[in-house]
Amino acid sequence: MAPVFKQITIIGVGLIGGSIARAALEKGAAVEVVLFDGNADALTRAGEIGFGKPVASIEDAVRDADAVFHCVPVGAMGATAKASIGAMKSGAILTDVGSVKGNVAREFRGLGRDDVHVIPGHPIAGTEKSGPDAGFASLFEGRWCILTPDAGASAAYVEATDRLAAFWTALGSNVERMDAQRHDLVLAVTSHLPHLIAYNIVATAHDMENVTDGEVVKFSAAGFRDFTRIAASDPIMWRDVFLNNREAVLEVLGRFDDDLTALRKAIRNGDGQKLFDVFTHARGIRREIIDAGQDTAVPNFGRDMDGKK
Ligand code: NAP
Repeated sequence: MAPVFKQITIIGVGLIGGSIARAALEKGAAVEVVLFDGNADALTRAGEIGFGKPVASIEDAVRDADAVFHCVPVGAMGATAKASIGAMKSGAILTDVGSVKGNVAREFRGLGRDDVHVIPGHPIAGTEKSGPDAGFASLFEGRWCILTPDAGASAAYVEATDRLAAFWTALGSNVERMDAQRHDLVLAVTSHLPHLIAYNIVATAHDMENVTDGEVVKFSAAGFRDFTRIAASDPIMWRDVFLNNREAVLEVLGRFDDDLTALRKAIRNGDGQKLFDVFTHARGIRREIIDAGQDTAVPNFGRDMDGKK
């Protein structure tokens, strides 16, 4: 496959940045990968692993890049873009991987370089791990990557968006273009609310642990364990997601509250039919996710049944 870009630069060499770098090199989507990170230890470690060339200054790192990927927490995107845009070459692409798009797009809009193509993005792929050792080249295979380009832009911008889409396709992703506001609402339902619920369940269980004398941890395989995996996600990343997608999360949380109240009422009233109907419907949605190739139908999420994995 012909490389999509001659050089890309990754700002933030953690799980997502490190995975893009590995995948780009392994799949030949870029000839050269240059790396920058505000964390000197992470940058050194990335160089040791060898998924790109570490550069100590953000300006030097982006100077010759055809595309710059900002892979830092959402709250840091504005600062890294601002610090580097002046050094970017004309016609290059500035993109990101942030889990929130509306606020990031607003931050990017005021950067003042009309000759740089700003195209926000979000790969819907990840794990609960962080840092340069956490990434892997196959992370994006069969996963969606959403791009939220400006509407009604120039032919050169459309061409740049097509190139960025081709890059994600080369990494194994399916690419979808979407309005930033719609992205934030959809992700509030599918990702942000589930993380909030997981963090909250773990907090409640921790408080209950005093009452249950260690039994929450002992019998965690009953369902709680799966929430703890989600709740092990990076606290900085998730703090920034909720601070930057406030409106959509509050809207979805309101709907969730209403549905929870209905379930509470059904339990209180002994309304088995209502509970059965809601649970049956939910089971059907799980089937749809498996049929869409977004998860495995293997029992226990593919874990060993003795629970060791
Ligand atoms: P990560 O593993 O923690 O890596 C982020 C890296 O960026 C860290 O090395 C961090 O250093 C560095 N950094 C933080 N602030 C910086 C700054 N101001 N300047 C330069 N470097 C800075 O994070 P990640 O999981 O890859 O997430 C990165 C982005 O991807 C986030 O915006 C997140 O919303 C998005 N995303 C994540 C997932 C997921 O599942 N994790 C999925 C899709 C999208 P320190 O360690 O010192 O902070």
